[in-house]
Amino acid sequence: MPSDELRLVERVLEHIAEIGTGKCSITDDSIAAEADPGVQQIFAGLLMLHEDLQYSQQRQTALLEELRDAVRARDEFLSVASHELRTPITTLTLQIDGLSRMLHDQLPIAVPDKMSRRLDVTRRQVDRLAALVSTLIDVSRITSGRVQVARQLADLVELIRVVAERFGEDALRSGSSLRFERPGPIWGNFDVSRIDQVLTNLVANAIRYGRGRPIVVGATSVGQTARFWVQDQGIGIAPEHQARIFQRYERAAPSTNYAGLGLGLWISRQLVEAMGGTIGVRSEAAAGSTFTVEIPRGG
Ligand code: ADP
Repeated sequence: MPSDELRLVERVLEHIAEIGTGKCSITDDSIAAEADPGVQQIFAGLLMLHEDLQYSQQRQTALLEELRDAVRARDEFLSVASHELRTPITTLTLQIDGLSRMLHDQLPIAVPDKMSRRLDVTRRQVDRLAALVSTLIDVSRITSGRVQVARQLADLVELIRVVAERFGEDALRSGSSLRFERPGPIWGNFDVSRIDQVLTNLVANAIRYGRGRPIVVGATSVGQTARFWVQDQGIGIAPEHQARIFQRYERAAPSTNYAGLGLGLWISRQLVEAMGGTIGVRSEAAAGSTFTVEIPRGG
């Protein structure tokens, strides 16, 4: 190859490398200064390539910024909407409780069964609404990285007892017996409300997917680790779904039979991990599931 052609190839390669870094030293003047019209064309082409690349990069940056704004707006909406929803629900709960007390304490006659039952149903539905709104608030907190762990000295066993007692009626209604195999106290520095929340999710699931069979809750401590578990004999989870169900919106049960958002286990995992622990499941389809949580007692 003649030496001036070789030099041209070298110059073109140098400019391509330069364009690759987002810069270009070719200008209209430098093109006009070239003697050969063929060479002028090559450099004009390179300059156009550079300008096209710059333009598409700017578009990409602008699109990314738009996308970020949209996600931010969605997260803000979720946060504001869930907090706004909580206010009327709290008022509604207080009104129902007041009405219930009035009926039972202040009416001279016995409260008709039908009325009492309706009030119970209303209260349960409001509780469900409150639980759904709490889920939305949790999602909003987690996605914006606002999960805070607040530890205090507490007995895990007492904490579990309170949750198990709270679920007594729900379990009864579903036909499942709920037994807490109570060991001696397990003291530690625990985030009481987060553990309550995780346990609440697990027991609610055991009742929902438990087919009315017995449910057992247990706890133990191994060195500096506290462990608790919820075991049911319900529909179980096939091996291929067992990791997936801890992800956001993931569900394994048929939605025709079991309603749900697929958020409870994801939230539980996020909370457990924020406390420095782990959550896992052992399960067999149609035989039942055991969800186990391990958290450090110190902290
Ligand atoms: P949801 O129950 O609202 O769908 P979760 O995140 O709590 O959301 O659970 C995700 C999925 O895991 C459920 O849809 C269900 O398929 C499965 N699952 C959870 N707990 C159990 C359980 N105790 N037995 C069987 N399947 C379960």
